[in-house]
Amino acid sequence: MTALPIVTGCCAILHEVQSKVKNFSRIFSSLPKGNPSKIISMDCIFCKIVSGEIPAQKLYEDESCIAFSDIHPQAPVHLLVIPRKHIASLAEARADDAVLLGQLVAAATKLAAQQNLAKGFRIVMNTGPDGGQTVDHLHLHLLGGRTMHWPPG
Ligand code: 5GP
Ligand code: ZN
Repeated sequence: MTALPIVTGCCAILHEVQSKVKNFSRIFSSLPKGNPSKIISMDCIFCKIVSGEIPAQKLYEDESCIAFSDIHPQAPVHLLVIPRKHIASLAEARADDAVLLGQLVAAATKLAAQQNLAKGFRIVMNTGPDGGQTVDHLHLHLLGGRTMHWPPG
């Protein structure tokens, strides 16, 4: 009966993953409930990049997000990480999007390592007009390859 320890081990891992996802979701539980975001927005540039209608230099993709080079780079490394589904901004994210938001950050961290940004990098999510957001599809900027300044403009 060697199968039992394997099954027990799998259950323990599953339990740990479930509890991590639960904790993560709890952190974001203050976000509004329900999900007003659409899967796709017809007039959204980034939705068109997701569908392939507009070309982009893709560096990463998985089932939930894609990353590509910014068309107007502000640093030697300037990538955008976006969810495949259309969420207009971080202000529109809902509790259901908690895992997705974590996946975007995890993808950016992975890309930072791939881009040799061991000396550091900056992640930015411009949100709304005062936040400097110009494309209304939630995205995360990964900037690196030079010393960043503070405060930002
Ligand atoms: P935001 O200003 O909304 O924080 O960032 C939007 C970013 O998208 C800007 O840095 C801008 O250069 C980039 N961007 C806008 N249109 C395109 C495009 O068609 N392709 C790519 N790769 N980047 C774009
Ligand atoms: Zn979109």
